[in-house]
Amino acid sequence: MCPSPSKKPPATRPLVIAHRGASGYLPEHTWVAKAYAHALGADCLEQDVVLTRDDVPVVFHDLVLEEVTNVAALYPKRMRADGHWYVIDFDYAELRQLEVHERITPADGKPVYPERFQGKLGFKIQSLADELEFIQSLNRSTRRPAAVYTEVKSPAWHHAHGKDLSVVVLKVLAEFGYRDPEDAVWLQCFDAAENVRIRFELGCKLKLIQLIGANDWNESTTDYDAIRTRAGLKEVSRYAQGIGPWIPQIVTWPSVGATPVFSSLVHDAHAEGLAVHPYTFRVDDLPTHAPNSVAVHQALFEQAGIDGLFTDFTDVTLSYLKTLYP
Ligand code: CA
Repeated sequence: MCPSPSKKPPATRPLVIAHRGASGYLPEHTWVAKAYAHALGADCLEQDVVLTRDDVPVVFHDLVLEEVTNVAALYPKRMRADGHWYVIDFDYAELRQLEVHERITPADGKPVYPERFQGKLGFKIQSLADELEFIQSLNRSTRRPAAVYTEVKSPAWHHAHGKDLSVVVLKVLAEFGYRDPEDAVWLQCFDAAENVRIRFELGCKLKLIQLIGANDWNESTTDYDAIRTRAGLKEVSRYAQGIGPWIPQIVTWPSVGATPVFSSLVHDAHAEGLAVHPYTFRVDDLPTHAPNSVAVHQALFEQAGIDGLFTDFTDVTLSYLKTLYP
């Protein structure tokens, strides 16, 4: 770690990436959350993608259903022995019967973010194709084009179930005109081996983001400690245009009232020509010991010099950036 690198923010305004939509205000990945993020002015609308049993790519963050839907009530007998209901065990028509709600802890049914929207109003899981049609229709009607920012979720899990998620996602994206590097799309994945495959074996030309987690999350078999080294970032630059690290991998606040401490990750990534889009800014879940939203935005945009930010609160991030880029 090094002290504040005291950089200037980038010359062009960093991207505001609506993490699962305007998920600070409405249940994640629902159409209302996407419409609201679009209306708030997000540059990019994110969609996580997983496959159903009948191979429909759906916009959904988890491999399991019970944290954001009423699956336990609707399909009580479809739980696996491990206590979970898996998206991959259901056909799309069955998933469409589910009601999507704010994230809960299934054990006690309590909301993960108690201050957020708690209405249960028949929100549905959408297919990737319907999501893209929805966003492109909004782009047309509002005359304000937003990009899409699509994540291939847990490709190794899908391969283990005989499914090739990347191929399916790329096909749907191509059907909606997302084929070339200059198209308004970013593709993202945590699994480095799959990103290499997407680029070289599947011949994908889209802008690609290598997401970076922590090794103990068991998100994939990728060694994220190695990826964050100079040699690791150089390797990433062979196949990707940027990285998507976790905010604490860039900046931390060691204690209450402490000044922020920065890693060299943004500097090192920029040295390899990689953009840096960390996740996730949340007003109601700031990084440990961070004093407030302004301090987080200031550290990331004005000191670390990031190029984009995943945010649950598009309006808060955008209004901060408007002070820097009037
Ligand atoms: Ca994601």
